[in-house]
Amino acid sequence: MSDKRQFYINGQWVDPVKANDFEVINPSTEKACSVISLGGEADANAAIEAASSAFDSWSQTTKDQRLDLINKLLAIYQERASEMAEAISSEMGAPMALASTAQCGAGAAHIKNLARALKAYEFEKPLGGHAPDNRILHEPIGVCALITPWNWPMNQVVLKVVGALAAGCTMVLKPSEIAPLSSMLFAEMIDQAGFPAGVFNLVNGDGVGVGSQLTAHPLVDMVSFTGSTRAGIAISKNAADTVKRVSLELGGKGANIVFADADEKAVTRGVRHCFNNSGQSCNAPTRMLVERSIYDQAVQTAADVAAKTQVDLASVEGRHIGPVVSQLQFDKIQGLIQQGIDEGARLVAGGTGKPDGLETGYFVKPTVFADVNNQMAIAREEVFGPVLTIIPFDTEAEAIAIANDTPYGLTNYVQTQDSEKANRVARRLRSGMVQVNGSHMGGGAPFGGYKQSGNGREGGVWGLEDFLEVKAVTGWI
Ligand code: NAD
Repeated sequence: MSDKRQFYINGQWVDPVKANDFEVINPSTEKACSVISLGGEADANAAIEAASSAFDSWSQTTKDQRLDLINKLLAIYQERASEMAEAISSEMGAPMALASTAQCGAGAAHIKNLARALKAYEFEKPLGGHAPDNRILHEPIGVCALITPWNWPMNQVVLKVVGALAAGCTMVLKPSEIAPLSSMLFAEMIDQAGFPAGVFNLVNGDGVGVGSQLTAHPLVDMVSFTGSTRAGIAISKNAADTVKRVSLELGGKGANIVFADADEKAVTRGVRHCFNNSGQSCNAPTRMLVERSIYDQAVQTAADVAAKTQVDLASVEGRHIGPVVSQLQFDKIQGLIQQGIDEGARLVAGGTGKPDGLETGYFVKPTVFADVNNQMAIAREEVFGPVLTIIPFDTEAEAIAIANDTPYGLTNYVQTQDSEKANRVARRLRSGMVQVNGSHMGGGAPFGGYKQSGNGREGGVWGLEDFLEVKAVTGWI
């Protein structure tokens, strides 16, 4: 069971300086599916030094050389997609159908988009003005620490790693200790593609050990982090002493504004989207704001959809939802559902406890609360489980005010068939993304948040530029 691959440093799989075994738990069975080692300060230092030594030569490669290697990586990723889907499914509990389509598929889509962006990107541009030689150079920022969560593991890892590779940066990846297996497989693919030693390094570990060493080390120029707002704040403080660039992709509490003129599938679509990936998505539309005239019908529809949502083991085929990732997460969700009941929200589907027949595994009942007030904990905190809150509103202005009344600002949603209203509302919502009449991610669009949802932008050309410095070369040359 113990994974022979430990850390990938300077082009080789190496053992930790000091063994510290950690079980990776399959959330459907509560049994270990692998044993990895959590690294410490010395392992992090070795990886950072390898990345630092490799930077000079890698940063001077041409974009065609980098593109060639990234295209090789894409081919390998596609060839080994089923292994990737299995790794994701067993480490974080996504049913195989979801793991192989959306979870694994997102990785391939991001590699393609970043390769396209790299191909078109001009790393040197004229500045204009009187001196024709004055120009702007876009240069790789340096050694990057990439720290990722467990909920969409390959989505986050690929956005960061391939963005940094395309820019000409070198890096150390620390995936979530809860879901490290897909990242270890991705490291194998990078090795297979033939990237030079030291360009990409991987060290497993937790936030306290490897995470804090990576974010404080003086040789690290940038931290790119996806995870909770709590950890993002700690990382920013830790990185401040050495003035690193810190790119943050944090939590969310998205509003889905359903106007009375929305199409007839809007509510059903919103509930399903909220429950997708067992509710474990930063951009999930967890607060459904419904115009009063259609409110009762919407609550009934949402309750019916939740009651019909199947929950089952990740290994079972089909479009059901799987478990949540861990006992800790399960307990947190149960606590928030109870708090919703205690605070007076009306439970119309689901509730505390496990679904019938699923006593083993971290399974949560698909849950819907109606008559929610935006000050309740279930409307303010990221539940990160299949729990929808429904809040009524009377006017457009009130809907916008409720949607914006949150410290988060990642994704909001608008459902209406009136395109003027959709545009007007989209402009007033304080979030990095607004999706109208559905949940289209807009292939190649930048992903990132306002307010406490972060400051980075990932994907496509924005995801490449996140890893670049801007240099002005001016004078009479
Ligand atoms: P988390 O913050 O607990 O952990 C994320 C990663 O950070 C892990 O690798 C962890 O080991 C590491 N870490 C934790 N504390 C650290 C510290 N002090 N220093 C350095 N590293 C540290 O988050 P999680 O539970 O793994 O993931 C869920 C969270 O991620 C949710 O809040 C979700 O909204 C957010 N998320 C955001 C996006 C986005 O793009 N905005 C995408 C996915 C997930």
